Amino acid sequence: MPPSYPEIALITPACIGCASILHRPTVPLPLCARCQAESPPFTADERIVRGVEALLPWTGPAARAYAAYKLEGCLDLLGGLARALAGAPALRRRPAYDLVTWVPAYALRTLARGFDPAAELVRAAARLSGHGRRSVGTLRRASLVGPRQRGQSAARRRRAPFGTFDVVPRRRPRIVGATILLCDDVVTTGATLSAARACLLDAGAARVDRLALFRADL
Ligand SMILES: [Zn+2]
Repeated sequence: MPPSYPEIALITPACIGCASILHRPTVPLPLCARCQAESPPFTADERIVRGVEALLPWTGPAARAYAAYKLEGCLDLLGGLARALAGAPALRRRPAYDLVTWVPAYALRTLARGFDPAAELVRAAARLSGHGRRSVGTLRRASLVGPRQRGQSAARRRRAPFGTFDVVPRRRPRIVGATILLCDDVVTTGATLSAARACLLDAGAARVDRLALFRADL
């Protein structure tokens, strides 16, 4: 069972791992000492791997909270998780990025879930870190469904291979010449973030840095 978050969590910071009230601010991650000890956040030296900055290992209480949010739709966990991402050094960088954007989910998966977990996470983190008006959806998946969903014809797969992206046409003017922070929830190999980054660079972005809340071991 995911932890149940009390109403008080809206005004008093609660640990994202176990929902206990944080009496002292734990900067940058809203995680109590016990949850941090169970699954320590990456140190500054550990954060960047293969060009992607990540804050937390994909294991332990914070990862379980994210899984409950993403897979079970526990939306009350979003605020704390977004606070964790908002603490990322990249979101505090000055000068700030021109755009903060995200890796979109497959359209049919979003339709089935009713929300796009990474998009909501990144939008909320951007608002919390003062980037609200700069957080914009710039990308869409070239195919409607992911590789785990069956039934796509071979012809359609050839037209739009899994893992490729298109720029949202009306966003193109904002991408040209922009410095962009591209975010995702969980990075594993980094291939998806690389493909999304390449799409933004092809569209004329000046610079695209990559950030994820979690990194999974390969
Ligand atoms: Zn905790």
